[in-house]
Amino acid sequence: ARTPVTVTVTGAAGQIGYALLFRIASGQLLGADTPVKLRLLEIPQGVKAAEGTAMELDDCAFPLLRSIDIHDDPRHGFDGANVALLVGARPRTKGMERGDLLEANGGIFKPQGQAINEVAADDIRVLVVGNPANTNALIARAAAPDVPADRFTAMTRLDHNRAITQLAKKLDAPVSEVKKLTIWGNHSATQYPDVFHAEVRGENAAAAVNDEAWLNDTFIPTVAKRGAAIIEARGASSAASAANAAIDHVHDWVNGTPEGDWTSAGIVSDGSYGVPEGLISSFPVVSRNGRWEIVQGLEINEFSRTRIDASVAELIEERDAVQKLGLI
Ligand code: NDP
Repeated sequence: ARTPVTVTVTGAAGQIGYALLFRIASGQLLGADTPVKLRLLEIPQGVKAAEGTAMELDDCAFPLLRSIDIHDDPRHGFDGANVALLVGARPRTKGMERGDLLEANGGIFKPQGQAINEVAADDIRVLVVGNPANTNALIARAAAPDVPADRFTAMTRLDHNRAITQLAKKLDAPVSEVKKLTIWGNHSATQYPDVFHAEVRGENAAAAVNDEAWLNDTFIPTVAKRGAAIIEARGASSAASAANAAIDHVHDWVNGTPEGDWTSAGIVSDGSYGVPEGLISSFPVVSRNGRWEIVQGLEINEFSRTRIDASVAELIEERDAVQKLGLI
C-alpha cells in the first residue's frame, strides 16, 4: 500500500465537514489505494462535536483510515498536512459590514496560513472553501511565504458543477456530455459561468443554446444564486454538494483532469486573460503532474469580457480592503 496522506479539515464539526469527512475516509478524495490520516481543526467550541464525528468515523471501520486527531490550535492541526481543506470560516451575520467580515476571516486565515508555512508537509496543497473563499485564500497565501503560491486555491468547483447540470438540462443532454465549461472570477454573485467554449455532445454549447437572453436572464443568475435557492428550499445551506465539489477539486488536482476537458478552480493569476497577477481568481484549468495550469488561448467575446472584468473588479476591491487591514 502507499504511504498515508495527511488531510487536515478545518470547520470539521460543521455541515460541510460532516458531509466531507466520511468521503475522505472512504478513499474518494485520493483514491482507493491511498491510506488517510485525518486531522480535524475546530475552534474550542467545536471540538466536542468534532469528537462526535470522529466516533462515527471510527464506527465506519474504513479500511483506509489510519488515524483521526482533533485540534483547536492550527500549529497542531496542520502538522505534517499534505492536503488542507479550509472549510471553517466566519459567516456574515446580520448588520455585518463587508470590512468586518474580511477582518473576522483575516483573524482565521492569517494564523492558519502562518501555521501551514511552519508545520505542513513540503507538498502541502490547500483548498479554501470557507467564504469569501478567494480572498481568504489570498490571506492564507500571503501568510505562508515559504509555500509556493500555486499551492493555495479557492473552490469554484461547485459553481462549475451547478453550471454543467443547468446546461445539460437545457439541452436535454447527460451531464457526462458537457465539457469545457468555465467559471471565471470570484466565488460570489459576480462569478461568470461561460458556455462560449463549452461543448455539449461535441457541439459548441453557445451555438446549441442559441439564446443570449436565456444565458443572461436564466442561466447565469440560476448558477450564481443557486446557494440562496437551496437555503430557501432546504432551510439550510448546501453542504453535501459543497463537500462533493471539494472532493472533485482535490481529486483532480492530485490525479489530473481527463484529456479533452477542463474544469474551474480559483488559482493565483499569472496575468492571463487580463486578470491582475497575484489575485486568486477562477479560470479554466487542467491539472497536469499535480499542478493546475490555466487553459490558454481562448478567445473572449464582448459578452464574456464585461462579465469577467466585473467579477475581477470585485476581487481587486476585496484585495485592496484586506491590504488596508494589513492582512496581506
Ligand atoms: P458550513 O460547513 O455549512 O460552511 C462552512 C463554510 O463554507 C462557510 O464559510 C460557507 O460560506 C462556506 N461555503 C462555501 N461554499 C459553500 C456552499 N456552496 N454552500 C454552503 N457553504 C459554502 O458551516 P457551519 O456553520 O455548519 O460550520 C462551520 C464550522 O466551522 C463550525 O463548526 C465552526 O465551529 C467552524 N469554524 C472553524 C474554524 C477553525 O477551524 N479555525 C474557524 C471558524 C469556524 P457561507 O457562510 O457564505 O455559506
